Amino acid sequence: MLKVENLNVYYGGIHALRGIDIEVQEGQIVSIIGSNGAGKSTLLNAITGIVKPKEGLITYKGNEIPRTPHKIVKLGICQVPEGRLIFANLTVKDNLMMGAYLRNDKKKIEEDLEKVYQLFPRLLERINQMAGTLSGGEQQMLAMGRGLMSNPDLILLDEPSLGLAPLLVRTIFEIIEDIKKMNKTILLVEQNAYKALSIADKAYILEQGVIKKEGIAEEILQDKSILEAYLGKA
Ligand code: ATP
Repeated sequence: MLKVENLNVYYGGIHALRGIDIEVQEGQIVSIIGSNGAGKSTLLNAITGIVKPKEGLITYKGNEIPRTPHKIVKLGICQVPEGRLIFANLTVKDNLMMGAYLRNDKKKIEEDLEKVYQLFPRLLERINQMAGTLSGGEQQMLAMGRGLMSNPDLILLDEPSLGLAPLLVRTIFEIIEDIKKMNKTILLVEQNAYKALSIADKAYILEQGVIKKEGIAEEILQDKSILEAYLGKA
């Protein structure tokens, strides 16, 4: 569904991504794990055209991906950014509706809104609250809900567990699995290696702009050297 080949991204003299190859099959959860500064956000931003690669080919459903963010949304790809970037001065409902701004299928939009409220009952309870007053976890839910409102086939999730309390982290990962069951494909970048590997079909380990390892997530989770290096336990 999504294929990234020989992707190279520079920020001035910094070579942030060095010949990255990844592939995401339809219906999968694919996790990219790596520590701070590994290049995880850069990878997602290169896919959605926010960052311009120096070299590389990115194809989606067999065609080269357009370089403009709104065309990418139209194709059925949405990015839920790190830091959430919700509209603080709009209500929860208005934020969600912003996610559907390129759509005009009113009835389906209403159905999707219902689905988002089913996934995130907390948002339904706070429908008229200003988004800026939500807790960090609620803002993460809102960012994911807003992404779903574009009715994507592929969701790019950037560090959804960042800064959340353990209980909420569990909830967010359960919801990601529920989203997969809605026939969505998910590319997830995470520092929380254990959680990200636990729910993924396939995983890549990214370090300093290079893919160090790739494989079936379950197998990587069994690999002692990886557990030691990335999960802090053997
Ligand atoms: P984190 O988990 O800390 O968000 P990350 O894996 O997402 O890290 P990136 O944000 O992709 O990492 O950053 C990769 C490298 O590129 C880092 O060394 C970072 O300092 C650098 N970098 C990222 N954005 C820019 C930018 N706009 N200008 C210059 N350097 C950048």
